[in-house]
Amino acid sequence: MRIAKSPGSARNYCAKAKPPVVLVPTMGALHEGHAALVRRARKLAGARGSVVVSVFVNPIQFGPKEDFSKYPRSWGDDLRICRACGADLVFRPSVEGMYRADNSVFVEEGSLSRYLCGASRPGHFRGVCTVVAKLFMIVRPDIAIFGEKDWQQLAIIRRMVRDLDFTVRIIGHPTIREPDGLAMSSRNNYLTPDERAVAPGIYAALRMAISAKRAGDILSAGRRMIEEIPGARIDYLELVDAETIEPARSFSRPMRLAVAVFLGKARLIDNIAVPPRP
Ligand code: AMP
Repeated sequence: MRIAKSPGSARNYCAKAKPPVVLVPTMGALHEGHAALVRRARKLAGARGSVVVSVFVNPIQFGPKEDFSKYPRSWGDDLRICRACGADLVFRPSVEGMYRADNSVFVEEGSLSRYLCGASRPGHFRGVCTVVAKLFMIVRPDIAIFGEKDWQQLAIIRRMVRDLDFTVRIIGHPTIREPDGLAMSSRNNYLTPDERAVAPGIYAALRMAISAKRAGDILSAGRRMIEEIPGARIDYLELVDAETIEPARSFSRPMRLAVAVFLGKARLIDNIAVPPRP
């Protein structure tokens, strides 16, 4: 497994890499959720293709009051996980390597980003789209894999690829959960033992809520159950069209129930499929 620390060296490696080149973008602090994506990448690349994992805590997707400087970093463990899951290259650029001091070009998606995390984290998806577009230009992957845990991000990346004519194929990977249902996340590291004990209540609430028949009932049931979790504060709980991320108006299209919850120092997100109803 090789390590590239600059866009130039990653570009050189990837230009000679055997296709298909499969990219897994991450911010590091890797866990079993990321590992599943890298293993999936290895399968898709086959024995001859190339798996590239990027590890970059992207400052421009964090708001001024968010956790950029405190975001967990575990480079040694990250390397071990990448190696164990079959990565060929780990691309770990510096902030200065990715952004010049006078960087002035950004990629902004203007529709799906208006909702959910885009509404509560202004500029977040502009940072995500910009860094992912840069990674696509550096690595030139045939395939890139993103997790469904970040459902809105996945939808926005698909839209960016469509609208900017990137040729990469985007694959979404199902959310990997702890045995008690909590979606794996680097930010789970922020939870105290007491918060960690109640955090699975978020996914439990989503699962229960979607059994309700009417959209209004789904939301009120979900809200009630999440508000019962000690210390939890809802940032948003919304039923959205799975593709456009707009508030669901029709029950006859695939939907997603999406939530963001503040719990102690962590802001946790999760989502669940709501199948179309006749
Ligand atoms: P992050 O390091 O949080 O930016 O995540 C990097 C990639 O891993 C993104 O595509 C995430 O959606 C994905 N990911 C993070 N956690 C999970 C999880 N629990 N299950 C599946 N994918 C995940």
